[in-house]
Amino acid sequence: MAKKLNSLSVDPVAAQARVLKIFPILRRTYPEAKVSLDYAAPLELLIATILAAQCTDARVNIVTKDLFKKYRKAEDWLKVSQEELENDIRSTGFYRNKAKSIQKTCAAIIEKHHGQVPQTMEGLVGLNGVGRKTANVILGNCFGVQGIVCDTHVIRLSRRLGLSGNSDPVKLEFDLMEIVPKRKFDGWTRFSDCLVFHGRAVCNARKPKCPLCPIAKHCPAADRPELW
Ligand code: SF4
Repeated sequence: MAKKLNSLSVDPVAAQARVLKIFPILRRTYPEAKVSLDYAAPLELLIATILAAQCTDARVNIVTKDLFKKYRKAEDWLKVSQEELENDIRSTGFYRNKAKSIQKTCAAIIEKHHGQVPQTMEGLVGLNGVGRKTANVILGNCFGVQGIVCDTHVIRLSRRLGLSGNSDPVKLEFDLMEIVPKRKFDGWTRFSDCLVFHGRAVCNARKPKCPLCPIAKHCPAADRPELW
């Protein structure tokens, strides 16, 4: 049955056909599309995603450059006082909550997962402050498990492109899982990465650059501000 997208009806069959047209174009346009947080291990990516809340990835990368030299294992994050950790991450904002969250997460990793970041959705969302979005980032980038990462860009673009009428990230994730091929064109993780890059470069929140957009001819919202 068709779902509502603003004033447009979303036909899942048409949405799937649209994905098959736009995905190869986005892959060609953004061959470098991948998570923009720097990391060398699953725990580093997990910590970086916590620090990235309400902060730019670029700022997080500046902070983690030194941070990840000081803190290497889950145990290291618990060896310091919360105040010391707050000081180390202060410039990412909301440092009190983030320090608390990091220490709780690391404590759970040690207690329940022998010091290793869990490799399943269930294990990851069981950690303090980790939702499906972060879990999919970790699974897709560290463990080769495909996942749709529903961040703000993916939500906005999916609605504009008529792929889902949902703005709830979990409902949207499941909508996209139905219509995006899991493996073809590198699958769910790559599709989300491409949408994030396209959202940053062209399909901005306030004023999308439709005349410059390589997928405009497939987009129901092209040059239609009432659908932005
Ligand atoms: S045509 Fe416009 S609204 Fe559609 S994806 Fe491109 S920039 Fe976004």
